[in-house]
Amino acid sequence: MALRDIRIDGDEILLKRAKEIKTVNEKIKLLAGDMLDTMYDKNGVGLAAPQVGILKRMFVVDISEERNEPYVFINPVIESEEGEQCGPEGCLSVPNKQGQVKRPMKVKVKALDINGEEFSMEVEGFFARAICHENDHLNGILYTTKAEDLVEI
Ligand SMILES: [Zn+2]
Repeated sequence: MALRDIRIDGDEILLKRAKEIKTVNEKIKLLAGDMLDTMYDKNGVGLAAPQVGILKRMFVVDISEERNEPYVFINPVIESEEGEQCGPEGCLSVPNKQGQVKRPMKVKVKALDINGEEFSMEVEGFFARAICHENDHLNGILYTTKAEDLVEI
């Protein structure tokens, strides 16, 4: 287990587009494990590689209350979006803030898993929100640029 330092808003790496991962090798698997450890340590529901200073297209998500349903998305592509939801978001890279963000209610996403196998899933509600938030990180977009009523918490 290894924790990585989280980059904080103001760090320009958070505004850059991350690059595709060509091979899911041991280094990528190690990074995914470290990202999960870091996400759980900070009690986050998701973490994208640029948030730990690595400009690669990968994020991890676990929206379960028990913190035992980790997902790794490598080179994710959101293939379709449906509906709309508006709800609160926060971000480990933007401490002590929260804002209301509009997101699709449902998304279909395809990606590679930790073994380099392609998978596709349709998710809705909070899971869809988490995927959209993390996917934005891969394109250098912070939720604060989309949020209404950004408040200190
Ligand atoms: Zn975030």
